[in-house]
Amino acid sequence: MARTTGFGQHPLMRYVEVGGVRVSAIGLGTWQFGSGEWGYGDDYARHEAAAIVSRALELGVNLVDTAEVYGRGRSETIVGEAIRGRRDEVFLATKLLPIMPLPPIVEWRARESARRLGVERIDLYQVHWPNPVVRDGPIMEGMRRVLDSGLVAHAGVSNYPLARWQRAEAALGRPVLSNQVRYNLVQRKPEQKLLPWAQREGRIVIAYSPLAQGFLSGRYDAEHLPGGSARRTNLLFLPENMTRASELVDTLRSIAKQHDATPSQVALAWLIRQPNVVAIPGASSVAQLETNVAAADLELSDDEARMLVDAADRFVAVNGPAALPALARRVIGR
Ligand code: NAP
Repeated sequence: MARTTGFGQHPLMRYVEVGGVRVSAIGLGTWQFGSGEWGYGDDYARHEAAAIVSRALELGVNLVDTAEVYGRGRSETIVGEAIRGRRDEVFLATKLLPIMPLPPIVEWRARESARRLGVERIDLYQVHWPNPVVRDGPIMEGMRRVLDSGLVAHAGVSNYPLARWQRAEAALGRPVLSNQVRYNLVQRKPEQKLLPWAQREGRIVIAYSPLAQGFLSGRYDAEHLPGGSARRTNLLFLPENMTRASELVDTLRSIAKQHDATPSQVALAWLIRQPNVVAIPGASSVAQLETNVAAADLELSDDEARMLVDAADRFVAVNGPAALPALARRVIGR
């Protein structure tokens, strides 16, 4: 793996190069586009989303991640319209809804995604999550067909444990380039098995929810919580957990201050220090996107990285059954 500095008009961006692909260390997540769960409204879907994509490409982002399930296809449509005429600047990733993922259904779903995206080729086609019933044999047979037809350039998976990622590769008989998983300062499970293997074998870990859905941004506290159903059921945003996170957020803030940066930038810079990791933050505005992209240019020292991990380790979230009463209050709104 090589992490190279950008050039030309993109002096800030860094790229991860693996297996013949070159992917920006900061990509763009687009679950937010046209998805009711985030509550960003119609104006965002109609105007801001396209402006976010356009600015991202200008700043050297090439990895744009969507999924057929986001906004029931609306995110793919918005992304497709936003990249029209700029296809060559994008490493376009979308995801298969793995319900009944038999080979002809995989082929059909890939064709439908490509149609909504307005492209002839999907650069990275990811199985959105492991199907608990259908094994990877049939799914990867469908994947092989779309690879062989040229509709898809690279196969990927998402939310796969390591053993299943490896089984998917064995079934495909070729590399499964990437695994997209939840990975951020407070959710670091991918470090146990996925990352060491990806680094050894030349695969990519795509970190989703890299800001823990804004939990690490320092924008929220126990009295000021985000709206929208996407985050209402996220246990991190329970008031008790927001209070418990104050030391971690203070650490992010104080390191940010040293670099004239923001807590979100520090959280992203920490993630993409790890080899073979790229992050795909979502953004509610062009300004956030710009901030996130600039994190590619932020170098943290080893000491700072250690301070962040130590502070994250001291944050112990209320979880499991103990969290249920507070979760019920948050969901019901009382
Ligand atoms: P995220 O990227 O950690 O959080 C995104 C949210 O954080 C934004 O909507 C925004 O919300 C806030 N934010 C972003 N940049 C900020 C900044 N610079 N300063 C302050 N706040 C900022 O979480 P995510 O959206 O869950 O994950 C990112 C992408 O990963 C998604 O868009 C999607 O493409 C993908 N994903 C994949 C899966 C999967 O199963 N494969 C699951 C989840 C997500 P506010 O401004 O409203 O606070």
